Amino acid sequence: MIVVLRENTASSDREKVRALLESRGAAFRALEASGRSLFVLEGEVPADLSRSLASLSGVDAVLPLREGFVLASRRYHPEATVVEAGPARIGGPSLVLAAGPCAVEDREGLEAAADAVRKAGGTLLRGGSFKPRTSPYAFQGLGEEGLRLHREVADRFGLAMVSEVLDRADLPLVSSYADVLQVGSRNMQNFPLLKALGKVSRPVILKRGLAATREEFLLAAEYILEAGNPQVVLCERGVRSFDPSLRHSLDLGSVVLLKEMTHLPVLVDPSHASGDRRLVVPLARAAAAVGADGLLVEVHPRPQRALSDGPQALLPGDLLSLAQDLEVLAPVAGRTFRRAP
Ligand code: PEP
Ligand code: MN
Repeated sequence: MIVVLRENTASSDREKVRALLESRGAAFRALEASGRSLFVLEGEVPADLSRSLASLSGVDAVLPLREGFVLASRRYHPEATVVEAGPARIGGPSLVLAAGPCAVEDREGLEAAADAVRKAGGTLLRGGSFKPRTSPYAFQGLGEEGLRLHREVADRFGLAMVSEVLDRADLPLVSSYADVLQVGSRNMQNFPLLKALGKVSRPVILKRGLAATREEFLLAAEYILEAGNPQVVLCERGVRSFDPSLRHSLDLGSVVLLKEMTHLPVLVDPSHASGDRRLVVPLARAAAAVGADGLLVEVHPRPQRALSDGPQALLPGDLLSLAQDLEVLAPVAGRTFRRAP
C-alpha cells in the first residue's frame, strides 16, 4: 500500500503520518517524488489503519500498490526526466545517439569509431572495458587500460564516455573514468550492484534483462532510484524469443508502454537486439519512429577483426547514413536530430 501526501505538505503533517505508522509497528519506506512525500508500506495493511491514515490532514490518498515501482512511475512523477551526460541531454527534445565499439580494443580503432560518432551527431562514445561474455574463453576487455584510453579519446572528440560496470567491486574504478555507467542485460537483477549504483553521482544506463518483464525492468530501475540516484536511463535491447534466427527479438511495443509507465528516458539498442548488421539500421529507424529517446549502437572500423560482436557492428559509413535517416525520422516522433555541421 502507498500513502500519498499532498504537494508541499507541512512537515508536521508528514510527521503525524510517520508517528501513526510507527505506533502501529508498520514496516514502511518514506520517499520523495516531485515535491510529494510518499510512504510505501510492506505487506498487508489492516483496514482500520488504512482508514486512520486516510483521515489525517495532508494525506491525499491511500492506494493499493498496484505496480511495485513508485519512484520510476509516471503516476507520481508526470514530467519526463532528462538525464545529462556531457553534451548529451537524454530524454529532452533531441534524439540522442550513443555509439562506439562493443569493446575498447585499441587506440586506432576507438579513434576511428569516435570520429564516426561525432560526424554522425552522436554525443556519447560507448565501449566496454569489462565485458560480460557468454564464454570465459572470449575476450574479457582491457580493464583499466581500456578505461584510460576510452577517457582520452572521448575527451579528444568531445563525447561523453559510457562504460559497463560488471561488478560492485569495479564501481569505484569505472566511475573514476566514465561519465555514464552501463549495467548489462545479464546484470539487470544484480541487486547489490543496483544498490551500489544508487550511491554514485553518475547517470546509469540500465539494460533490460534477456527475459525480464517490463515490471521487473522498472523494479530494477527502482532499486537505483530508491538508493538515491535519480539519473537512470532504460535501454531496450531485445528479449530472448523461441526463434534462434536472430540473436534476440526487439520489443518496440515496450518502448511505447515504458514511455507511458515511467518518466525515465528510454534508449533502444538495435545491435544486441538483432546480432546482425543488416538489421541494425532498419531497427534503429523504427526505434526513432516509435518514440525512443535515443539509440545505443555498435560501430567498428573493421568489424571482421573485432574481438567481440563484429557481425552486428555498423561500419562508420553506415552510422553516417543512419544519422541522415534520423534527421528525417526524429520529427515523426516529435523530436529533432542533427548531424555535426
Ligand atoms: C553491451 O552493450 O556491450 C552489452 C554487453 O549488451 P547487453 O548487456 O545488452 O547484452
Ligand atoms: Mn556487444
